[in-house]
Amino acid sequence: MAVPKRKVSPHRRGNRRSHDSLKVEAHHECSNCGELKRPHNLCPHCGYYNGREIVAVGL
Ligand SMILES: [Zn+2]
Repeated sequence: MAVPKRKVSPHRRGNRRSHDSLKVEAHHECSNCGELKRPHNLCPHCGYYNGREIVAVGL
């Protein structure tokens, strides 16, 4: 329910926001090129996944 801004104390507001922080996105080193990549996703740097080249990355 909406409550007027000035009716919520800084303490109460802080308590509510204590769960709002963002989590660090998961990442892991690519086994082929060593760049950081997201797990279970092909590497955006070299296009490898599971030891095979899936997508040719034009450089
Ligand atoms: Zn890679």
